[in-house]
Amino acid sequence: MQIKAMVIHEKNGPYQLEDVELDEPREGEVLIRNVASGICHTDEFGRSQGVPIALPLVLGHEGAGIVEKVGPGVTDLKPGDHVGVTYAFDGTCPACRNREPYYCVNFNQINFGGVIGTNRTTRLHQNGKPVSMFFGQSSFATYSVASAASVSKVDDDVDLALVAPLGCGVQTGAGAMINVAKVGSEDQVAVYGCGAVGMSAIMGAAVAGCKTIIAVGGNPRSLELARELGATHTINRKEVEDVPAEVQRITGTGADVALDTSGNGRMMTNAIRGLKYHGTFLPVAAAGTIEHFDVGNDIMMPMRTMKGTCEGESDPKTFVPQMVRWYKEGRFPVDRILSFYDFKDIQQALDDSANGKIIKAVLRISQQ
Ligand SMILES: [Zn+2]
Ligand SMILES: [Zn+2]
Repeated sequence: MQIKAMVIHEKNGPYQLEDVELDEPREGEVLIRNVASGICHTDEFGRSQGVPIALPLVLGHEGAGIVEKVGPGVTDLKPGDHVGVTYAFDGTCPACRNREPYYCVNFNQINFGGVIGTNRTTRLHQNGKPVSMFFGQSSFATYSVASAASVSKVDDDVDLALVAPLGCGVQTGAGAMINVAKVGSEDQVAVYGCGAVGMSAIMGAAVAGCKTIIAVGGNPRSLELARELGATHTINRKEVEDVPAEVQRITGTGADVALDTSGNGRMMTNAIRGLKYHGTFLPVAAAGTIEHFDVGNDIMMPMRTMKGTCEGESDPKTFVPQMVRWYKEGRFPVDRILSFYDFKDIQQALDDSANGKIIKAVLRISQQ
């Protein structure tokens, strides 16, 4: 079928709204009419060819919409279902068989390989030539074909524009706290960086009832919002000289869990040094270098853990619907961090994001 999609033709090239051919869903796949898509930093990573993906390319990996058609073998979704789409995985490797698809051995190959699934094919074409997909969905388009395994059904009384960002940025932060660190009411956590992922980690820690939630950032407006979302304390890194000492002062022992979303070397060192003995550091930014890092004093002797984590280690079928339920109960106010744009205004959304005017952009996609 003919669809409209934002096509990237060259490295760092502009998003161009063009006609693209979308194939029928194959075995285990679904066709989704997109209603919204979040914009995530990883889309920019794809546009700048941070990982080389064959061009032309359609980005977007936080899609939400309504199932239009299901391919053979799909039993848990039907036309009319409201759905969110998350990362892709092969479903067959030992990790996937163990119901840990976030550890899929083919994660990078599928999500950043321009393809859908492991048969290395794309469902997108233009003028008879293949167009690369992103995260097995390419949601900057009026329609997507995705693997049903990556698609979660959500309650249909919630705006799909709120569901879209749950599939990557929001689950990365909230899932790191809930699924990875498994925080609870006795825990004291510190979140470094107050963008979309950091705010989502704060909301996740608040849902879990953590007794101390410290937001560390440099923007007073963001720190104020962090408090409204559940932070019990805030630290302005531009005003506080010794951040680890301040975290130690607030917590008494040091934080149980520190999560960094900044990828900034100094922030990450502070995050580790603000931990208690046996605390856990979770870097979730795919960037940065820790320059002044003392393995003996910072990790080994205090017996701390550093664990990289992706996508909040979320089960695609359960975590997105769970966040939707928390939202409906008023416990997970994700709408507070979102700003909405018309599909064609994608560049404006990116500019506002880059300038720090907004926290997280979501595109509303109508049929063009
Ligand atoms: Zn796998
Ligand atoms: Zn993402």
